[in-house]
Amino acid sequence: MHELTLLYGVVDKVGEVVKDNGLDHVDAIVIEVGEATSVIPEFLQDGYEVISDDYDFLRGSELIIERITAVGRCRQCGTEFPIVANKGICPECGSFDKDIIEGMDFFIREVRVMENQ
Ligand SMILES: [Zn+2]
Repeated sequence: MHELTLLYGVVDKVGEVVKDNGLDHVDAIVIEVGEATSVIPEFLQDGYEVISDDYDFLRGSELIIERITAVGRCRQCGTEFPIVANKGICPECGSFDKDIIEGMDFFIREVRVMENQ
């Protein structure tokens, strides 16, 4: 499953942050996952439980997943609308023909480290 590949990418990035900042551990990683990506948050969460144990700097930390609403722009009338809530159909003209303008991203938004550790 490609969620694991993504997770290893996240772990690599966070590992760099840890190293660059002279940290030895993080408490939480916040990632944003657009609805228009094919990423399944539950798989990410499950995968994280498994692989975070393999890294000293991640042990006991939490993965926080924030969903970004997928937004489309209708190619017929230009209306912008939330895709999932409208089942992919333009609420103005009923067209299915659209460009996805938001919600395609997957990125690390924040690495949280508690003080006094
Ligand atoms: Zn339309």
